[in-house]
Amino acid sequence: MKNCTPQKHLVIVGGGFAGLNLAQHLINDKKFRITLIATNNYNYFPPLLYQVATSFLDPSSISAPFRKLFRRSRVHFRYAEVMSVDTDLHLLYLNNGLINYDFLVFAAGSKVNFYGNEHFLDHAVPMKTIDDALRMRNIMEKAVINTDPAERRKLLTTVIAGGGPTGVEVAGMLAEMRNTFCRGIILN
Ligand SMILES: Cc1cc2nc3c(=O)[nH]c(=O)nc-3n(C[C@H](O)[C@H](O)[C@H](O)COP(=O)(O)OP(=O)(O)OC[C@H]3O[C@@H](n4cnc5c(N)ncnc54)[C@H](O)[C@@H]3O)c2cc1C
Repeated sequence: MKNCTPQKHLVIVGGGFAGLNLAQHLINDKKFRITLIATNNYNYFPPLLYQVATSFLDPSSISAPFRKLFRRSRVHFRYAEVMSVDTDLHLLYLNNGLINYDFLVFAAGSKVNFYGNEHFLDHAVPMKTIDDALRMRNIMEKAVINTDPAERRKLLTTVIAGGGPTGVEVAGMLAEMRNTFCRGIILN
């Protein structure tokens, strides 16, 4: 006999490590109809962002489109930003519409903390997304075509705030870049 229990709509906000893992874990669970919502239409692997920032890897090497990941599966992907939630109505307000849910999972990650110094953003590049990594890469591209030595030196002088894994890895790659590929360009 067919199981006629209505499927519950599970909405997952976020397609990072947490959201994607949950969706993949429940992908064959017939109790749920799953929608994953994210502000980017691909999942990416943050531990290798520093390799993209320094051009040792391309963005496509560390990312995978959701629509490809969920191809031929029952997970529906929605490219949107969640603006607010009405928990009484079980309703999410998105930047491009509305969506209702039976169960809601928030896996929206975290933001870079500037500890009250948000104006640093005018001059600093965070290192959290592929866009951030490409921004850093583009600064170096600007340096390559700049013919003013003082301006070029400015573009190639990087101060890294934060000595955790990300800061240390970015510093290591910049040093390797200078020593291996760019000696002539950078140091004259
Ligand atoms: C440079 C770097 C290196 C790292 N290296 C390591 C490492 O070596 N080992 C390790 O264990 N961890 C590492 N981490 C940490 C690890 O990447 C994070 O802990 C992990 O990505 C967190 O996963 P998450 O799913 O919670 O959030 P995230 O991966 O940040 O994903 C958040 C998701 O939520 C979505 N989202 C956010 N806001 C909204 C919204 N309003 N509406 C809809 N969608 C939204 C985003 O689009 C994204 O899909 C590193 C992190 C960085 C930045």
